[in-house]
Amino acid sequence: MNEKEPADIIYFSSQEGLQILRHSTAHIMAHAVQDIFKDVRIAIGPAIENGFYYDFDYAQTFTPEDLEKIENRMNGIIAADYPFVRREISREEAISLFRKRGETYKIELLEDLPKDVEKVSIYSEGEFIDLCRGPHIPSTGMIRAFKLLNVAGAYWRGDERNRMLQRIYGTGFATKNELMEHLNLLEEAKKRDHRRLGKELDLFQVNDEAGAGLIIYHPKGAMLRSIIEDWEKKEHRKRGYDMVIGPQILKVDLWKKSGHFDHYRESMYFTEVEGQAYGIKPMNCLSHMLIYKARIRSYRDLPLRFFELGTVLRHEKTGVLHGLMRVRQFTQDDAHILCTPEQLNDEIKAVADFIDYAMDIFGFDYEVELSTRPENAIGSDRDWEMAEAALRQALNDNGKAYGINEGDGAFYGPKIDFKLKDALKRKWQCATIQCDFTLPERFDLAYIGVDGEKHRPVMLHRVILGAIERFLGVLIEHYAGSFPLWLSPVQAVLLTVTDKHIPYGKTVFRQLDDAGIRVEKDFRNEKLGYKIREAQMQKTPYMLVMGNREVETQRISPRGRDGKLLDSLSVGEFIALVEEKCHQYQ
Ligand SMILES: [Zn+2]
Ligand SMILES: [Zn+2]
Repeated sequence: MNEKEPADIIYFSSQEGLQILRHSTAHIMAHAVQDIFKDVRIAIGPAIENGFYYDFDYAQTFTPEDLEKIENRMNGIIAADYPFVRREISREEAISLFRKRGETYKIELLEDLPKDVEKVSIYSEGEFIDLCRGPHIPSTGMIRAFKLLNVAGAYWRGDERNRMLQRIYGTGFATKNELMEHLNLLEEAKKRDHRRLGKELDLFQVNDEAGAGLIIYHPKGAMLRSIIEDWEKKEHRKRGYDMVIGPQILKVDLWKKSGHFDHYRESMYFTEVEGQAYGIKPMNCLSHMLIYKARIRSYRDLPLRFFELGTVLRHEKTGVLHGLMRVRQFTQDDAHILCTPEQLNDEIKAVADFIDYAMDIFGFDYEVELSTRPENAIGSDRDWEMAEAALRQALNDNGKAYGINEGDGAFYGPKIDFKLKDALKRKWQCATIQCDFTLPERFDLAYIGVDGEKHRPVMLHRVILGAIERFLGVLIEHYAGSFPLWLSPVQAVLLTVTDKHIPYGKTVFRQLDDAGIRVEKDFRNEKLGYKIREAQMQKTPYMLVMGNREVETQRISPRGRDGKLLDSLSVGEFIALVEEKCHQYQ
């Protein structure tokens, strides 16, 4: 075996080991596909988060039955325990090798390598040969647990001008137990799909007649959103933010001044009013800059924290749009903090605390990552170093562990990303804190310092929940639609047994409604069992049945959405119960 794998032992339980395992499984999948289907050409097959894929060019569409066949063949390859053999050959040799095999995509990859690359590595196991940098597992027999999941279209090299290939996704783990656990989570994710629950719970719709990626909130969805927005306003006021509101469109010249026109134009929409070009805002920053500039600012005014529930539009390609998660119009809980360099550390720490508080309130764990300077960055080296140092310092002071994403910062500054983890262990990007030394310069922002001189303030862009649409999507799936009481658009529903219980039902409704409880009535002439089932489907926290006993005792008997019956209560006691459960959030 001519192996040149790393000398260190890599365990499959490590992220790195798992990646190697999954990528090796992608090779085996391509091997199996080639064995079964004639004239299939292979493209690329990397490991990805939670699995792997391989792209194929094949005349027929792969069916679920095909995936089964491929899996069976893969099991054969695994049983044969072929060693992965690495060879270094010249680029010319590789080209002629893949030409003989008809692998035009591999030839294209080889031809596109930088001129000075003379040698390339190829890996084979059994009959299968692939152009690859490696590393791989020593032999195919080491695969214990994998599963092919689905097929999707993917353009060669991600470019829509290229040919559409078929991407087969799979997942793999070190052990069968871990695989089963992951497949269960995937199954659960399907059940919790926010697009499906959004329809079932009557929260929102996306309608082609209105346009792709545009959310239409139904009454319950709009209620859920306003509960969150009310929470946002209260929490921001508590933390010394001033609420502001800017316009949806601003003159193109202003977007040029800010640098968005140069760096972000492709994601923006434009319009014209009386011959004047306007850009529809993809971010909320610009109005906030103008608010700062409306007065001469002194160091005594700082920090200034401008908060806006800012609705923005961004052009996302149709192919990436996905329910509430990826949309073209969304509202951010956006704020810009303008402060002195000395205040920066405290401000970043306060935002990180705010995020920590918010994640706890909504029931999420989270991870923290620092993203550093990307390739298309604007601003000087000195500014970038200063900004990165400030973010790092604040993270170190907060004492929470964090990862580093090299080169993943915004074009105008480094950032801290907070990724929340949902009930299905998936990570979602929500909160960010972005440092910006550039906009204050472009807008010539200044404050009068203690020394009586003009100084440049530092600016932070930050969001706590991020795009509210996306956050709602995450929230729906996290709770599988059974929102905590304080977030439930409808907290209780009144169900009458027969029409003669309606007058009492109306009295109770008025009392609960007056107390601010979000209550609905179902006084229809339907069987009680039917009404209860419907309320359960709606995941309404409390069902209040109005029957003879309730009318006689002038009390109510709440039933939870889990089917549990509570002791009978007076209306006043029920109001107190709801208030007690919600009060820490409101
Ligand atoms: Zn490989
Ligand atoms: Zn901003």
